[in-house]
Order: sequence, then C-alpha cells, then structure tokens
Amino acid sequence: MDRAVIDHRGPELPEITLEVVANLRRVFGTEEGRVALWAGSGTGAWEAAVVNTLNPGDRVLAFNNGIFAEKFAEVADKFGIAVDLVDVRWGDAVSPELVASKLKGHAAIQVVHNETSTGVTSDIAGIRRAIDASGQDPLLLVDTVSSLGSMEFCFDDWRVDVALTGSQKGLMLPPGMAICCVSPRALERSKKVTTPRSFYDWGPLLAAMEGGYFPATPPTLEMYGMREALRMLVDEEGLENVYRRHRRLAEGVRHAVEAWDKEFLCHERERMSNSLTAVVCETANTDELLRLSEAHLNLSLGAGLARLKGKVFRIGHLGALNELEVLATLGGVELALDMAGEKVELGSGVAAAQKWFRQDGW
Ligand code: PLP
Repeated sequence: MDRAVIDHRGPELPEITLEVVANLRRVFGTEEGRVALWAGSGTGAWEAAVVNTLNPGDRVLAFNNGIFAEKFAEVADKFGIAVDLVDVRWGDAVSPELVASKLKGHAAIQVVHNETSTGVTSDIAGIRRAIDASGQDPLLLVDTVSSLGSMEFCFDDWRVDVALTGSQKGLMLPPGMAICCVSPRALERSKKVTTPRSFYDWGPLLAAMEGGYFPATPPTLEMYGMREALRMLVDEEGLENVYRRHRRLAEGVRHAVEAWDKEFLCHERERMSNSLTAVVCETANTDELLRLSEAHLNLSLGAGLARLKGKVFRIGHLGALNELEVLATLGGVELALDMAGEKVELGSGVAAAQKWFRQDGW
C-alpha cells in the first residue's frame, strides 16, 4: 500500500479491481453474487444494504443481541423502515427457532453473523432453513463485518441477499472500505426501490465496477492492500486453512478463559465466536483493565460496549495471527487482570492454550 497514488481513471486500476472482486466472491462463497465496494466502513455498508433493498414502510425483522445488531436496525429505522426489533440476551445467538417464531410477512430479515460486542456467532445456515420451513421468502441481509475472512460464509448456499462488511477485520486491512455482496434477487429489487440514495446507490457503482472502475474516487492504495490480503487468504493459505486456523486459535483462547475460571459472555459453546472472545469480569472495571494493559503492556484489548461497558473485555483473535501471538496475548491478559485486581493464576491460561495446541496437533 505504500506506493505512489495511481490515477483512478488510468489503465492500472481495472486489473486490480477485477482481481479483488473475483477473490472477494470466493471469500463470500458466491458465484452469483455481485460485489460492490465503496470508500467507507461497515456503517456505510449497513446503509447501502438498507437503502438499496427496502422502501419506507416495509416491515423488517431484526434481533437485538448486541450493539452492532441494534445499530444495524437503527439504520433501517432512520430510513423509515418499520423494524420489528426482537430483544435477545446480549451474549446469545439469534436462533433459527426464534426467527421462525417471529417471522410474519416481513420484507427482510437483518442478522449479524458474528456480533462483535458479545463474541457470538449466529447460525445463518440454520436461520435459512427456518425461513424456508416457514414458507415465507424475505430478503436475508447479513452483517459479516467480523466474520468474513475468518469464518466460513456460504452466500449462495445460504441464499443470502446482501452480505456486508468492512475492510478492517478479517480482511486484515486498515479501515477504509464498505463492501456488499448482492444477490441477483436483491439487485432486481433495488431497481424498484424508491428510497432516496446517492453515494450508496449500488446501481451505478456495479455498472462501473464491471469494467474495473468506480463512479467516485475509490481508496486506491487500500485496493493494493486488498489485493494482497485476498491473495494471502485465498491463494497462499487457502480459505479452508484460514478457517481451521481461526477455530484452533479461538479454542486456545477459550481454554485459557476456562483455566482462569472466568465466565464467557456467550453461554453456548457451539456459538462462541472464532474471531473474538468476550470475557466477563467480576470485580475489576474492564475500562480500567484496558487502560492498564495499554499503558504497561502496549496490549490493546476490546472494551465492553454500551450496556456491557466496564463489565466485559474482549480478546480479538482474527486476521494475521498465530499460536505464538495468541500465547503472548494471553500472557499479557493475565498480567493485566492481575494488575486490575482480578483473581487469576499467572501462567494458567497460557499453559491451557499450549496444551490445547499440542493436543490439536501440528
Ligand atoms: N457491524 C459489526 C459486526 C461491527 O463489528 C462493526 C464495527 O466494529 C460495524 C458493523 C460497524 O462498522 P464500522 O465501525 O466499520 O463502521
């Protein structure tokens, strides 16, 4: 990415764009889906998903199982969409059964695949089966901001209509891009949608991207980074290996949390995220824990967000990461917990993760 800025109307860009789009489609798990890419972030991608597929007054089913799910629903609400927001305990997944029980003639369903504020992954394949069993056919809009590139995603098989993400998590880049994968059905629908939209109108964008260009100035240097990140994921390591590595490292972190005798925010083992782990603290204020880990160890942990502020901290384990980095992180967390006055046996989590890595094999 550290290069001279190219002319975004010049001859170099299309080759980069077309390779990026082809590899993004592999990461989304689609042959039919089209990829739209803007300068922006996940929040922009939420807006794009909403304004291109829904009209004011359309009824949408959404689930509040974390701050990002709540904010995604808020975006729809701000555009005049009638959102039925179902409360779910923060720390639980959106279950297929819940979807089945709440779905009643909605135009779309919004779900966050991996809720970053709680470390919980919802079962999109199961949700798809529940929708199918209901005999209804709402659009399925899925936030993959903290899952894409870290966990398997099957856009075509799960018949997702819009999957949205940003560049800064599993795609291992700095912030800067909003990305949507769009099904043929969502594309057709967008042609009839009248919700006012301009920058995030994917119609002109997708038309220009066919030829490798963009209607507005794209983040050109980030495009180089994206090309390289996707080569690393798709060509060099291979997606299956990437997902396996994330499962293995996440399991290492989970073994450490258990050795510390700390509570996971997510209570269902099967639904614990492979990209981050949210841990509940009994005594320490986690804002203070974060301050100490940053100040003394240069270790950046995730805060408890919104109603979880001060009560939860999050360990990220996604992207370019290996066993050694996980062990170092766990060692740092143990020290920070100790500094913050939480009961923890130094070395216990590191040893538990080491034993897991040995048991899992090399
Ligand atoms: N969705 C999820 C699941 C997220 O984790 C985030 C941010 O962390 C967002 C959406 C919002 O994305 P951004 O902060 O890139 O605008």
